[in-house]
Amino acid sequence: MNRSSYCMVIDGQTVATDENIAVVNPATLEVIATVPDCSQLQLDAAVTAARRAFPGWSATSIEDRRQVLVTLGDILLAETEALAGLLTSEQGKALAEARDEVVSSAEWLKGVATLEMPVTVSEDTPDRRSTTRRRPVGVVGAIVPWNYPLILAMFKVGPSLLAGNTIVLKPSPFTPLTTLRFVELANEILPPGVLNLVTGGDALGPWMTEHPAIDKIAFTGSTATGRRVMASGAATLKHLTLELGGNDAAIVLPDVDISRVASELFWAGFRNSGQMCIGTKRIYIHADIYEPLSHAIVEYARTVVVGNGAQEDVQLGPINNKAQYERVLAIVQDSRDNGHRFLVGDEPVDAGPGYFIPVTILDNPPENSRIVQDEQFGPVLPLLRYDDLDEVISLVNASEYGLAGSVWSADEALARSVAERIESGTVWINETQYLSPLAAFGGVKQSGLGVEGGMEGLIDCTVAQTIVQRHLPAGAAGAAHGAVA
Ligand code: NAD
Repeated sequence: MNRSSYCMVIDGQTVATDENIAVVNPATLEVIATVPDCSQLQLDAAVTAARRAFPGWSATSIEDRRQVLVTLGDILLAETEALAGLLTSEQGKALAEARDEVVSSAEWLKGVATLEMPVTVSEDTPDRRSTTRRRPVGVVGAIVPWNYPLILAMFKVGPSLLAGNTIVLKPSPFTPLTTLRFVELANEILPPGVLNLVTGGDALGPWMTEHPAIDKIAFTGSTATGRRVMASGAATLKHLTLELGGNDAAIVLPDVDISRVASELFWAGFRNSGQMCIGTKRIYIHADIYEPLSHAIVEYARTVVVGNGAQEDVQLGPINNKAQYERVLAIVQDSRDNGHRFLVGDEPVDAGPGYFIPVTILDNPPENSRIVQDEQFGPVLPLLRYDDLDEVISLVNASEYGLAGSVWSADEALARSVAERIESGTVWINETQYLSPLAAFGGVKQSGLGVEGGMEGLIDCTVAQTIVQRHLPAGAAGAAHGAVA
């Protein structure tokens, strides 16, 4: 697909602007396309279209909406190769990863389509029947970051549509193209106004969070921006889902099979070049196996190919954008300045003009160092030596973040007891990053508010309505009517 200019999708129509934003391929630094820089009036038009579409869409049956999600999933599957190529060109990730993101996005929509909308009967007596059902919240403003642009959009689109909401979707200005193409295709089967997409620069997100006719903001991004979204949404009392940053830890117990876990721990930290909210950001390894396991991870790391993700043999692409590239370089420099030992990553990577950073692994830097405390969000990983399990659990929990984490051990019962002590929204045992559309996913502490995924995520796209129905005594209907009259 060699298009160079894209339009927004508002009310089922393509909409252009005079002002445009350039989208850059982070591997080559070439401008690959432009997208509109949405004006405030155009955002108003998108919100108005979504409002207008809401009564009709919310009145469709949930069975019809399930079918729509399945069809949207099929559309993604049919377009996998084209969308994956586009995703790699704007995001930088390896083609295999991009394909995986498109296919997982399709599976996500199809999985969400199977969710049941709960109805709670809190009282059912001869006197009254009291039920709580869920109604759609209205117009959802969905705001998405650049690391997993398509699937993070689907985390919002799937449950929002199933619940009967209409949507104004805003991708990151760094990665708008794949999502835009999906929304174009989706509008071939959706009624106009149900799913709108706007693109723009720094002003657009705040316009959405303060917009009086948007009922809910579903936001994924950094914790700092999440706080701004929450503050801005206060004026109109918006419903909010905030999926924010993390500093996920892996705790590796001394009984693991080193040869099996080494590569899995590597990918836990380096998938998508470390640009993953649920990427492992620090690995605590028991002292008894620290030397052999760190050696095995480093040996594996030396085999991994970094380069332009469009080349089939490449496993890790560049950092997505200049600001993040400079942030990660500053974290690496901090480690250099503080004399941390580099196990691998001291040499620059020769992969072209883009935002490339070599796979970098640090040997037991101090707990209070920047690389351990910050969310690095890049291909730089500290390995940390521990002796005492209680102590390491308190170090893990000392973080302001609480997104996810993992425990690695041959003893499943022990691993589970450790997992239950970790203060985060998700803990994996002997794996990482497995997400299901049927399970709640979300952060605690400074990692977020509310959840996406599962019945809980669907509920977060709705408001509750309780209907309390008093049963009249037999023959009392006329009398009651008379009393009012
Ligand atoms: P970001 O917060 O800079 O931007 C996210 C989105 O918000 C973008 O679309 C951006 O244009 C928009 N935005 C920026 N300022 C805004 C404002 N004031 N009001 C409204 N919208 C605004 O994040 P990023 O750099 O794109 O993504 C990286 C961050 O996202 C990392 O911290 C990562 O951990 C986090 N993340 C979290 C999850 C999760 O599920 N918890 C998933 C992926 C990424």
